[in-house]
Amino acid sequence: MNELRISGKAILQRGREQSLARFHPWVFSGAIAQITHGLPDGCWVSVEDAAGKIMGYGHYQKGSITIRMVIFGENFNPDVYNEKVAGAINFRRSINLPDEKTTAWRLIHGEGDGLPGLVIDIYDNVAVVQAHDAGMSADRQHIAGALMKNLGDRITAVYFRDTNSEAGQYISGSATSPGEVLEHGNRFMVDWEHGQKTGFFLDQRENRSLLSEYSQGRRVLNTFSYSGGFSVYALKGGAALVHSVDASASAIALCEENIRRNGFDPAVHKCFTADTFEFLKKGETHYDLIVLDPPAFAKHKDARHQAMKGYQRLNAEAMKVIATGGILFTFSCSQVVDRQLFYDTVMSSAIHAGRQARVIGHLSQPPDHPVSAFHPEGAYLKGLILHIS
Ligand code: SAH
Repeated sequence: MNELRISGKAILQRGREQSLARFHPWVFSGAIAQITHGLPDGCWVSVEDAAGKIMGYGHYQKGSITIRMVIFGENFNPDVYNEKVAGAINFRRSINLPDEKTTAWRLIHGEGDGLPGLVIDIYDNVAVVQAHDAGMSADRQHIAGALMKNLGDRITAVYFRDTNSEAGQYISGSATSPGEVLEHGNRFMVDWEHGQKTGFFLDQRENRSLLSEYSQGRRVLNTFSYSGGFSVYALKGGAALVHSVDASASAIALCEENIRRNGFDPAVHKCFTADTFEFLKKGETHYDLIVLDPPAFAKHKDARHQAMKGYQRLNAEAMKVIATGGILFTFSCSQVVDRQLFYDTVMSSAIHAGRQARVIGHLSQPPDHPVSAFHPEGAYLKGLILHIS
């Protein structure tokens, strides 16, 4: 494996070094006064302020975020992946991840772990690396090396997925997907080769756990269920009935398998491969507890207005069919939709549906998805628990 190498240099406009001085990791194209010509996407560059002082080092990629900083300060560190992975493991250990009941956990959460554009999820003995930018993709062998060095006693394979291509590959060892993991003692099959994102939505772990506390005796509808995360916890919590709805047939197949694996009575659970909006419109069953966990409706700011209409409609449809005294767990994972905007939208759904809504909980992402205080954009998952009457 070649050493990490710096291929070019960017010089910032005067005054534009301030956000870097505050450890915000993104350098926007408009902040750059000069940059080495002809740089390939994914290469390393040094970043200097207008006076020639080195601010740090990052990955270059054409686009509005031109550089994502990986190292702050004057000194380049060729061992950076090893150090950051070791630091991330220490932090997870301090919050008891993994433990005997939870073997699926996020090791690297992008900017929150000082590695912009990189996600690493651990599924028992397999690490799944997802690169959201060209730099992390280019450095994947270094990343795999750091993983094997620090977790070699625990993991036997590193699987790599690029956001831009469907197919992934093993970049160290090999394994058979899907494989079983535990989450709070619940069993889940995770398909890191063919599933969505890295194979499982670890960010909902603590919210699923909370849902189980509300489930006793309730009729539960889990929309956008994927592989049945919330459904398993609802059954564990003693739900009277659980319906899981997802548009993807392969997600539903995995959901059925996960219900079976946890030994629940199949008569209490039913899966539907369907569009959530269509399903809600039919309004055939009254539910006492509904989960709305849609995919990001807005991936960019330009799509935000349209997305808000989607959230508004979705929440209003759910509020129309929920029983009096029902509980709604509603989420948005769109980074460009902030907590206040989401709140306002959900409240307008209540007005539209003609229901009384009371907020009984605010939800967010778990501690293995940390948000850098200097990069508040990292707080993407927000949710509300509402009591509807
Ligand atoms: N709550 C899940 C994660 C949801 S991810 C968990 O805890 O694991 C979003 C899911 O929504 C995906 O599985 C995707 O297939 C599904 N989906 C996307 N659009 C949909 C639609 N219109 N109707 C139903 N499901 C949809």
